[in-house]
Amino acid sequence: MSAWQKYKDKNGSTPLDLLNPKSERATDELAAERLEVCKACPDVIPVVNQCKRCGCFMDLKTKLKISKCPIGKW
Ligand code: SF4
Repeated sequence: MSAWQKYKDKNGSTPLDLLNPKSERATDELAAERLEVCKACPDVIPVVNQCKRCGCFMDLKTKLKISKCPIGKW
């Protein structure tokens, strides 16, 4: 399995999915719920809401329906 596939399996999505207009977006409510979990997480860098585990910027990642937290918090 490629490193890229492992990343996708762990995180549900990749940054490229954000650029794909066919990638289904999460509802505003779901994205907001996810972001609240991330903001309370010790693994987030608060100023930029970047996850230390996946490296993603959570303001964006939470908006993709297929995304998932790499440690199963959402
Ligand atoms: S994606 Fe998961 S591990 Fe990363 S900041 Fe959000 S809750 Fe924490």
